Amino acid sequence: MTDVDFCVIGGGFAGLTAALRLKQMGRSVALLEARDRLGGRTFTQVRDDGSWIDRGGAWIGPGQDRIRALMTEFGVASYKQYTGGEAMMVVDGKQHRYTGTIPWTMSPWAAMNLGAVFLELGHMCKSVPLEAPWAAKKADKWDQVSLAHWLEANVLSKPAHDLLETAIAGCYTSAASEVSLLFVLYQMASGGGPSFVLGVKDAAQDARPIGGMGAIYRPMAAELGDAIHLSQPVRCIHQDDSGVTVRGTDLRVRARRAIVTVPLAVAGQISYKPMLPADRMFLHQRMPSGAIIKVSVVYDEPFWRADGLSGQSAAPGSPATITIDACTDTGRPGVLCVIVEGPIARQLARLDETERRRAILDALVERFGRKAGAPVDYLEQDWSAERYSGGGMLSHAPTGVLTQFGHALREPCGRIHWAGTESSAVMCGWIDGAIRSGERAASEVLEHETAVVG
Ligand SMILES: Cc1cc2nc3c(=O)[nH]c(=O)nc-3n(C[C@H](O)[C@H](O)[C@H](O)COP(=O)(O)OP(=O)(O)OC[C@H]3O[C@@H](n4cnc5c(N)ncnc54)[C@H](O)[C@@H]3O)c2cc1C
Repeated sequence: MTDVDFCVIGGGFAGLTAALRLKQMGRSVALLEARDRLGGRTFTQVRDDGSWIDRGGAWIGPGQDRIRALMTEFGVASYKQYTGGEAMMVVDGKQHRYTGTIPWTMSPWAAMNLGAVFLELGHMCKSVPLEAPWAAKKADKWDQVSLAHWLEANVLSKPAHDLLETAIAGCYTSAASEVSLLFVLYQMASGGGPSFVLGVKDAAQDARPIGGMGAIYRPMAAELGDAIHLSQPVRCIHQDDSGVTVRGTDLRVRARRAIVTVPLAVAGQISYKPMLPADRMFLHQRMPSGAIIKVSVVYDEPFWRADGLSGQSAAPGSPATITIDACTDTGRPGVLCVIVEGPIARQLARLDETERRRAILDALVERFGRKAGAPVDYLEQDWSAERYSGGGMLSHAPTGVLTQFGHALREPCGRIHWAGTESSAVMCGWIDGAIRSGERAASEVLEHETAVVG
């Protein structure tokens, strides 16, 4: 039995941050991670040529101060996302090249509709209190309807509707009918509004750390040293009057308190003794994650830049639904990131590997020309096939869940405290939110300690 002050479950950014801050405060910690690697929903692969690919979370944006603080702490610099050239929208098979956020060339009516909906969503977001979205004046009304319902009633132009459905529902990696409007507004508000969530420059995909996310989580892990225990999926957390006993595969940890940072979608796989209060247990059952496949297609060089394209494109219904330039700071090799989400990701996952690759490369050739069909490397990461993520990018709330169970997101259950990006009121769903949640949970357990001593 390992005896420590605190036990952290999960080695993504939330868990690593919680454990690091506790260790820095002089406490003993054990971090149990189910996988044989750290990073969770971030996963940086270093290629033989020294370039790196983020197979999960990758981008950072303004307002994400906590990840910036970690980068400063570990000396990690950032570089700006490539946004030169034109972006592309494909609507009904027709390609529209444009600059800025709204594709005005599509059709003035559709573009005006898009602009108006952005404004309306931004306005609605402002009335959602981040610490308690269920307390918004219109919370009950907004939580009764899905995003699909709202889009149907408010977006009259079909191309604008299809684009918004792809873009917004894509953030939740699900069909728009699966996600509560209140949850969408809350999550958008937590990042600063729809322009932040859906934008690139000066928004959620503004920059990247040099070296990828691994350049941050690796030195965090080094500082934690032997506090980290890999390949220890936690099956059971038992709490009693004096502490918790946490069981991994071949490790038992005794601690005063536990911080659980695993995604809501898989938190119910742990057996809690005594059972968790009903609202927390039901939260685990009711906040699923959606499907996302992130494909990194590697070329000798980013040929699309020479063709006047930024690499950013969206094509509702296509197997390569969204693309973005994902080169490192040196711009070599050329990496095009393809993101497929929700129902299309689930359809593609049913194909065999060769058929899926063919479908994606064919779609890229149509959009970027024949060079797109001859990559030097092709890496797929299907997050729904990851046992310890249960999908990606974040767990979402279907209708009715946030107003009924949202209060349980952060409420400790006895000696068990909760972290993970979904529990963060600010930047919920982003890596920055995960870091904030880890810092909050670390303060929480320390406050309890002080209260007992005091
Ligand atoms: C494809 C993709 C793209 C994304 N893009 C971005 C982006 O560009 N920018 C951004 O900010 N965010 C992005 N995100 C979201 C971001 O990656 C997450 O918000 C963040 O990594 C979540 O961190 P976390 O620590 O809360 O959870 P996780 O990273 O999921 O960490 C939880 C950890 O718990 C472990 N675990 C699970 N079950 C157990 C168990 N029983 N016992 C022990 N350990 C367990 C898991 O293995 C995992 O390591 C993306 C996510 C995906 C999937």
